Amino acid sequence: KTVTVMDIDFFNTSMNSFLRHIVYPDLANESKNFIVTANPEFVIETRDHPEFKKVVQSADYVLADGVGIVNAAMLMGRPLPERVSGIDVMYRMLDHAAKNGYSVFFLGASEDSNKKAVANAEKLYPGLKVAGRHDGYFDPADTEIADMVVESDPDIVFVALGMQRQEKWIADNIDRFDKGVFMGVGGSFDVLSG
Ligand code: UDP
Repeated sequence: KTVTVMDIDFFNTSMNSFLRHIVYPDLANESKNFIVTANPEFVIETRDHPEFKKVVQSADYVLADGVGIVNAAMLMGRPLPERVSGIDVMYRMLDHAAKNGYSVFFLGASEDSNKKAVANAEKLYPGLKVAGRHDGYFDPADTEIADMVVESDPDIVFVALGMQRQEKWIADNIDRFDKGVFMGVGGSFDVLSG
């Protein structure tokens, strides 16, 4: 089921299979799910930061977001079917959410980028339920923002606080939620904001 690259267990899946067999059923069943998408830079970061490594190892699924990981797996004789990029998973989840009535919280990036990303998501995915949004420049020790996300009762939480910070935020807060698919999305709001 997984392929281990530098102590990180990558889930052995294609994008379509991951969505169909994991994400969509978890949304339908209101199961909690912490997804990490990791590229080689990310894996190297876990080597240098043991606390971060523990956070990544606590995720339900780590996806290979980079050909570097796919190539490393192939050299080890344990091929992964394809690269599964975080931003593509985010787009597919937004599409599925809009079509099935799941709500999404957008946490992270600058206020301007966050606002534009949400506006573009609503345009690209008509009917999308936005549970809420907030920029990513807050003190994580201040629980007010997390309270707000919890109270919005989202089905999906995209966290764009940059590598490490976003995964730590999810790991620190996921126990407070009854349901939700949580994923760190790095610079994806900056892309979605156009
Ligand atoms: N970001 C944020 N709060 C922070 C630091 C970064 O919201 O304290 C956002 C930043 O605006 C960007 C995203 O996180 O939209 C990814 O940042 P960056 O590319 O620096 O992170 P990386 O994932 O490359 O480490």
